[in-house]
Formats: sequence, structure tokens, C-alpha cells
Amino acid sequence: MRTYNIAVMPGDGIGTEVISAGCELLTAVAKAHGFGFKFEHFDWGSDYYRKHGVMMPEGGVDRLRPFDAIYFGAVGDPKIPDAVTLWGLRLAICQGLDQYANVRPTRLLPGLKGPLRPELGAGIDWVIVRENSEGEYAGVGGRAHAGLPLEVGMDVAVFTRGGVERICKFACDLARSRPRKKLTIVTKSNAQRHGMVFWDETCKRVIADYPDLEIDWMLVDAMTTRMVLKPGTIDTVLATNLHADVLSDLASAVAGSLGIGATANLDPSGAGPSMFEPIHGSAFDITGKGIANPIGSFWTAAMMLDHLGEPKAAAAVMQAIETVTRSGKVMPPDLGGSSGTKDVTKAVLDALQGAL
Ligand code: ATP
Ligand code: MG
Repeated sequence: MRTYNIAVMPGDGIGTEVISAGCELLTAVAKAHGFGFKFEHFDWGSDYYRKHGVMMPEGGVDRLRPFDAIYFGAVGDPKIPDAVTLWGLRLAICQGLDQYANVRPTRLLPGLKGPLRPELGAGIDWVIVRENSEGEYAGVGGRAHAGLPLEVGMDVAVFTRGGVERICKFACDLARSRPRKKLTIVTKSNAQRHGMVFWDETCKRVIADYPDLEIDWMLVDAMTTRMVLKPGTIDTVLATNLHADVLSDLASAVAGSLGIGATANLDPSGAGPSMFEPIHGSAFDITGKGIANPIGSFWTAAMMLDHLGEPKAAAAVMQAIETVTRSGKVMPPDLGGSSGTKDVTKAVLDALQGAL
């Protein structure tokens, strides 16, 4: 029997709650489709930091290399600076394993309303590709002249030719694999005259190899209005690390809740494992209450199954999620219901059995 080795890293807050629900679902779907999972759990995160002074042990990234995929919860703790939690774990893994393509699908699931007018909401079927290794979050910059009138703080956006080429190629290939074959490239080259102009020029060279795609360009500010006012005109979106970070939070809002969104951090070369995570954070305000919405972690599981080469199992998971949202009987509080994590998990597992 084919068995996939998965590094499971629940992380902080509700990450632990939704990832254990996700592992339950993955085990059930694997059994039904004739393959298996071997989960190895890693307790890295903020509690680990409190005990050891680091978010993960030295050589942690190398320990992840042999796995087929990483199933990640959330990281962040209100008492520890983001610079420690985020850079010490999630970004260290993304950068260490060169997971340069962050992919975030957005759809309004059946039964969910979302804040847009119904005819607009129905048009949402997007996938946002975020450059995940450089750009505005390259970590390059510094502070100088503390306390003086000429004090400065700088974050330098770094765009490399290779970095832009590979993410643009990835986005074009993804757009080509989708029915509408449409790509929107987001930029801000009207105001940022160096890196963003270079981004545009480099993308233009790459898209010359994709004459079959319908490609348009948007300034990031105008893109936010298009996402709200003309969502049906958007399919695949390519944006920089910062721009896509902002656009994808907007995307999750128009899809109804932060609790349902999923993300993949991919190394498309396949040299190392890719990492799959729900888009929400650790959400300490609801941690321990048993009300975290696990649907984001289930959608994440479906993305991981697709990536592992199990599209039928992935489709079964999505179908089970949609059966539950469509019926609307078992909904978590963030989607207007009163069901807890366990009840929603059970409903999706039941729907999965029914769909087999
Ligand atoms: P981080 O700093 O890691 O982003 P956070 O504490 O800001 O974490 P988020 O996960 O970004 O929290 O979410 C913001 C709010 O949305 C949470 O405080 C929570 O109320 C709600 N939320 C997020 N995810 C879920 C979920 N899965 N189920 C229910 N509510 C959620
Ligand atoms: Mg947050």
C-alpha cells in the first residue's frame, strides 16, 4: 500500500485544534481510497520557544526534507513578537525549503453568503499566486541613527531576475491548467520605479512563451476594487509577497470567513517537501473553546492530497465540505452557526462516507 510520510506541525493556538481534526479526515479518506499516511508530529512553536528559547531545534529544516509534505497549523503568540514566531518557524521553513510559490484558492462555497451581493459572490473563482521568497519580505534592511533627527528604518524590496522569472512561469502554468486561461499580473510600477518596473519587464519576457493565455495587468490599488466590484472577471492572479499578502486577506473576507481558506507553500521543483496550511492564524481569542472552524484545515488537506497525486481523494474531501456547507445544518460560529469543531468534523466525515 502506498504510504505518504507527512510532517505534522500544529503550532500554536487553534492550529493544534484544526490540525488534529484534519489528520482524522486524512486518515479516513486515505483508508477509503486505498493508501495510507504516516504522520510524524513536531511540537515546534511558541510553547517550544518558552522551553528552549528557539522555535525549532537547530537543523530543524533539514529534518523536514525527507517528508512527502508538511501539514502546518498556525504560528503566533500574543506574548511573543512576530519577528520571533514567524521568522523562527514558518518563514524559516518556507525559505529553507525554497517554497517560493504560495498558492491560495478562493471560492464562495455553496451555502455561504459572503459580504458581496449574491450575483457578484457567485463569480468568485480565483487562485492567487504569491511570490513567497523575496520581494518586500526579503528581510533586507536596517535601522540607523537611533534617537537622532535623521533616524531611519528601511525594508528593501528585493527582486531577482531568477526569482521573478520562476514565479511568473509558475503562475502562467497554473493559469494554463485552469479552464478560463486568464492571468492578472499585479504591479505598482507607476509609483515604485525600480523593483516594480523590473518585475514588469521580467514578467513580460516570461509571458511571451504563453500566447494562449489572456493576460492583463493591474495596479494593486485598482485590483482591490476589481476584486469587490467585478470579481467574475478574475481567475489566476500573480502578485508580489506584500501585495498578495494583502489581496489574499481581502479574498478570504469576500469568501465568507478566515476560517475556511487554505494555502500551499510549494517548491515546484519537487526537491523538497511543500507545506500546506490554513490561512488563518493562531486566534488566541477562541483557543480552547472548541469552536475553531476546521474547514480551512480540510481544504488544506485537499490541496495536499492533490499535490501528492491523489486527486480523487482531494475531490472527495472538497465534495464532503460542500455537502456540509450547502446543507447549512452544522455550521461553526464564524459562519453564523453554533456547532463546535468536533461537530463540524463529524459532519464532514459523515459526508465523506456518504460520498464514497
Ligand atoms: P496571527 O497573528 O497568527 O495572524 P491572529 O490571532 O491574528 O493570528 P487570525 O487567525 O489571523 O488570528 O484571525 C483573526 C480572527 O479571526 C481570530 O481572532 C478569530 O476570531 C477569527 N478566526 C480565525 N480563524 C478562525 C477559525 N478557524 N475559526 C473561527 N474563527 C477564526
Ligand atoms: Mg492575524
